[in-house]
Amino acid sequence: EQVEDPATVTGRIVKRDVTRIISVGTVFEEELLTAVDRRFIGAVLSASKGSNDMHLVLADLSTSEIFLQKTSRQLLGGLVEAWNIKELIVPRDFQNETDLPLLITRREYYLDNERAINEKLAEKFSVKNIDSFELDVAEKKSLYILSLYIDEIAPGLKIRFNRPQKEYQRKTLFLDESAIKTLELLQSHSGLKNASLLGILDFTKTAAGKRRLSYSIANPSCEKSEIETRLDNIEFVLNQEDIASKAREILSLCHDCERILNHLGNKPQVRHLGQVFETLQSVQQLHDLLKSAVSVPASLKEAFDISHDFPSKLYALLEKALYLENLPPVLDERRFIRPGYSEILDEAIAYNESAQAILADYEKKEKEKHDISTLKVKYNRVIGYFIEISKGLTSKAPSHYHRRQTLVNAERYTSDELKEIETRILNAKEDVLQLQRGIFSSLVEEALGERDLLFRWAGRIAELDLVLSLSMAADQYRYQRPEITDGDRLSITNGRHPVVEALFKSEVFIPNDVHLDTADRHLAILTGPNMSGKSTYIRQVGLIQIMAQLGSYVPADKAVVPLADRVFTRIGAFDRLFQGESTFYVEMAECARIFQNYTERSLVLLDEVGRGTSTFDGISIARAMIEYLNEPGRGRPKTLFATHYAELSELIQPGTGIFGLTVEVLEEDDRVIFLRKIIEGRADKSYGIYVADLAGMPPEITKRAKELLSELETSGLWQSQPGFSNKASRRKKQGPENQTLMFEEN
Ligand code: ADP
Ligand code: MG
Repeated sequence: EQVEDPATVTGRIVKRDVTRIISVGTVFEEELLTAVDRRFIGAVLSASKGSNDMHLVLADLSTSEIFLQKTSRQLLGGLVEAWNIKELIVPRDFQNETDLPLLITRREYYLDNERAINEKLAEKFSVKNIDSFELDVAEKKSLYILSLYIDEIAPGLKIRFNRPQKEYQRKTLFLDESAIKTLELLQSHSGLKNASLLGILDFTKTAAGKRRLSYSIANPSCEKSEIETRLDNIEFVLNQEDIASKAREILSLCHDCERILNHLGNKPQVRHLGQVFETLQSVQQLHDLLKSAVSVPASLKEAFDISHDFPSKLYALLEKALYLENLPPVLDERRFIRPGYSEILDEAIAYNESAQAILADYEKKEKEKHDISTLKVKYNRVIGYFIEISKGLTSKAPSHYHRRQTLVNAERYTSDELKEIETRILNAKEDVLQLQRGIFSSLVEEALGERDLLFRWAGRIAELDLVLSLSMAADQYRYQRPEITDGDRLSITNGRHPVVEALFKSEVFIPNDVHLDTADRHLAILTGPNMSGKSTYIRQVGLIQIMAQLGSYVPADKAVVPLADRVFTRIGAFDRLFQGESTFYVEMAECARIFQNYTERSLVLLDEVGRGTSTFDGISIARAMIEYLNEPGRGRPKTLFATHYAELSELIQPGTGIFGLTVEVLEEDDRVIFLRKIIEGRADKSYGIYVADLAGMPPEITKRAKELLSELETSGLWQSQPGFSNKASRRKKQGPENQTLMFEEN
């Protein structure tokens, strides 16, 4: 960009400089960022030298929000996923061994000058003194790193950070990268649009509402009162359909104030002021709507109480000033200020208009005076205003016309009188522009002066939008309100998988129950054939837990959901194979993390663990894990363990806390039907050949396989080896599963 005013420079080239480096984590321009794309830039700082613990500061530059987190190397990946962190500023020696999928920016700033830090932060937060934020030293330093980096790549950027929010003080249900991905909370890995929890729950009307919904899904709450408040609000709007639909209408007129404030600070346009006004107008309408309603939950009523917090002065000012009926999107000489607001401006505009009239008069007068029917007064940027006469009539042009341009079929002239009129018009235009510019910047100042209040309202609007969205989902998909408890019994009656049920309608979805606690029934071993519905079942339990804690209704007839601290998943095999890690390694690394971190309050979902290695390895590892999870001393998490290894059902024993679930199968003559109904018990058959048949395997193969199977069964190997010592036979049987032969000894 040019960094000098060209008007002040003579005799040399205007100085130019790079004023902004736009990186993936710092982009916030309206033109470059979709409204719902919420992305963060972060800075990390080790808690102490060599420590795994770290402080993380996160900034959304499109809204100026700042969040503080505490994390560790192991958990960083989860935050990257949950927060959509696109860029991370790290110390030079930071090892990126986990291949975090983001831009890593290495910086080493001098961090030991406390005064410099305090001053810089005071500047960035626009406060005299940052003491009231009660930040500790590490937090200040990480904020300082972020500030210096932003100054470095965007020196001219005017971003005023919002008050930092200590995210680690919020009690949330922690979901790691694996849970967010495998449960398809925000995105589906099939690439199918909307085949995610976010996709089906999203009925939001505003971009901020959608951003809040995706945040809430990835960061559900662990605070009972917080959850209940949201559920109460959903219940209220579900019961008052007319209020809900009116509120939705009003919401669709709201604008994205969180981001508008940022534009007002940097590249303000007339439309941004109009949007602030319209949003405040909607707030008033929402207030009126809720005031007229009955049995509004107290928190909702309070949230939209405009008797406090409402920027009434700004609202009145904008109402008086803005020419809303005809607001031009950008600032130019078109009127954007309402007549009557400024006398001087009105005069200038009137003068500008009269100058235009004079021009029209002049054209008419010249036409008649010289009898030139084709005479026209026109304007272009090169010669300004001119008189145009078509070729046939140029001989009639009077001598005081000065010829300026010759075209194929016309001549262009100016005259002294026209020049005079031109000066008058240009001056009038310039006056209007200057006056409007002045008023514009004072209005922008006023709006920015109320940014804290505006931001607060933006948050309330987003929350209402989210509540309305969740109520719409509850209504559409027939969800029920969950009962949230501090107890330890998870009990779901007729639960469904929200995404499968909503999107894959080829089959009727069969609902299923779940009953888990931390004593008698804490670990379910779910055995059953492939394709019978095991994975769907355990995911659905995880999803219902998460939905309940984000304050949503859930796909079940009845759900009693205890607060969980984490949901752990080891599901499926989409893997970071492209990053050079084998499936089995990834699986074990994820399991290791689960085993290091679960507590009695966790929900652990394990699907086909051990499948990536040889059968006997796999069974052994799976069995050892189950035994570990079952040790009372460690605190027993609620666990669902899906497996097609029938051998593991040996562990199902009354009184141990381990119980068995299986999927009901109907055998009719030669047909096998998977009923998708989860029942107590264990699988006695694996139906592998049947599934192969379903998948379109040539009949010769399935027929031969049946023969082999019955040979194995009659030879007695099957019965005599309930454990896993006869490797040869099992390996043959499970042949295709043996992906990692190197684990087998011979
Ligand atoms: P498994 O893990 O036992 O191999 P999946 O959970 O992957 O089986 O499910 C296999 C198929 O059955 C999927 O296409 C899924 O959509 C469907 N399915 C699973 N559970 C149900 C259910 N309760 N009702 C209807 N269809 C289901
Ligand atoms: Mg499965």
